[in-house]
Amino acid sequence: MNMKLINLERVTKEYSDGFVALNGVDCAIDQGEFVSLVGASGAGKSTLLKMIYADEFPTDGAVYFGGRDIAQTKRRLLPYFRRNFGTVFQDFKLLPQKTVFENIAYTLEVHGKSDAQIYDEVNHILRVVNMADQGHKYPNQISGGEQQRVSLARAVIHRPRVLIADEPTGNLDPISTLEIVKLLLKINSFGTTVILATHDKSIVDKLNRRVILMSKGRIMRDDLRGKYIISA
Ligand code: ADP
Repeated sequence: MNMKLINLERVTKEYSDGFVALNGVDCAIDQGEFVSLVGASGAGKSTLLKMIYADEFPTDGAVYFGGRDIAQTKRRLLPYFRRNFGTVFQDFKLLPQKTVFENIAYTLEVHGKSDAQIYDEVNHILRVVNMADQGHKYPNQISGGEQQRVSLARAVIHRPRVLIADEPTGNLDPISTLEIVKLLLKINSFGTTVILATHDKSIVDKLNRRVILMSKGRIMRDDLRGKYIISA
């Protein structure tokens, strides 16, 4: 069988309170794709993302990554498995007592890189996100848009295969939003698969990439060059 990088097969997620957030979802995503997940709040977008980066597991069906069932990964190996992913969220989740440089370097320290490697790689990624020369600042000394650019840098510093962006522009003004979208495209152009969950119609229409529309835990549409159209 010709497996895509990510395959969801009849994935159902019932939370412990009995709420069914995903209901028999089938979906395949290839290496290098840029996919937008859209739909109303509560549609199941975040839950679907969590299935992919192994933050939650299906209660029925399975998610395959590189042909392997994620749920079969041994618990102690999950942290290594999760290195396939970088994540950014609506709140930037930067550590306030660390500088921009330290926030990004932290991931590489955890991965056991040398100081010289870390210095080079962090400075490189700061240039990619147009934050060169701002490494010494603290999160409260930069704007929200800049903080999200730092979060993006941190998310991709270890060169993950997949970048998961869950409402990354939810707290940003239109100009900062556009900068983040451009960066997501740039990161995608380097070969990283990007999966973006968003409410923002203007972003998705501009992207002209694949759009998956969700409603009530199901996929309603899946268009290769889609627009954010709610009424099917
Ligand atoms: P979206 O990202 O599209 O807004 P979510 O995947 O966050 O949707 O949520 C889908 C539904 O699942 C929502 O109704 C939400 O309240 C519910 N839900 C999410 N997480 C949990 C949880 N841990 N326990 C129970 N219900 C949850």
